[in-house]
Amino acid sequence: MLDKRQEEFKVIEEVFDRLTLEGVYKLIHQKVIDEIHGVIKAGKEARIYWGKDPEDKELAIKIYYTSTADFRKGMMQYIQGDPRFKRVRRSSVRNVIYTWTQKEYKNLQLAEEAGVNAPRPIAFNRNILVMTFIGHDGVPAPLLREVDLSDPDEFYSELIREVRLLYTGAGLVHGDLSEYNVMVWEEAPVIFDVSQALLTNHPLSESLIQRDIANVNYYFGRLGVDTFEDSKLEMWVKGESEDLS
Ligand code: ADP
Ligand code: MN
Repeated sequence: MLDKRQEEFKVIEEVFDRLTLEGVYKLIHQKVIDEIHGVIKAGKEARIYWGKDPEDKELAIKIYYTSTADFRKGMMQYIQGDPRFKRVRRSSVRNVIYTWTQKEYKNLQLAEEAGVNAPRPIAFNRNILVMTFIGHDGVPAPLLREVDLSDPDEFYSELIREVRLLYTGAGLVHGDLSEYNVMVWEEAPVIFDVSQALLTNHPLSESLIQRDIANVNYYFGRLGVDTFEDSKLEMWVKGESEDLS
């Protein structure tokens, strides 16, 4: 059985450990994933792979590293060599990352239920998150920062509507919103990378929504858009006011 899947495993086995491979294998067995191709992007926290489901639909497969560079270079270096901490290492670091993966999945679910334009969650297992692929034929949609918008004013309006829907409908604050975490697909904004997104009742949500709004206003202000005042926009995004003018 492994033989048949050797190609799929080859692209991930150099980077990921046995437990991750088992998670991927489970998703293949459950017929969530049928094929895994190359890496779309290797970031600091995770790698994103392009894949296909059994119906040939494109997938984005986000696999979190189970040991971050910080862990490897820092304390973990001392813990790893100590047989007393074998179990601690395996459970605590991994569990945090499994929880993180699950959180991103659940945030995507909330976004989907609210009708926010975001990747749709399909499944998760351990440190692996499977979602719909935004793009075509393995080429991901460009990031907002890579696009020369034909109508920045219109795009700004659409993006702030999505941010409002995320807040009022999904009950989430993105928390890392910028031109790097918005894709442009079919001329519409797609908000993604929501692992750090928080529920609106979280104590940090207030300061994060303010930062998100400031980021968006700064970016579009530089494009010459006549943006709304931060505090006004914040009230509107939170559903505390109905019109912006
Ligand atoms: P991180 O910022 O932690 O590295 P992201 O979730 O932002 O991870 O994903 C990294 C890159 O992978 C994005 O910039 C985007 O190009 C691509 N990507 C992420 N999710 C998808 C998706 N669902 N469809 C297509 N491309 C994606
Ligand atoms: Mn990102």
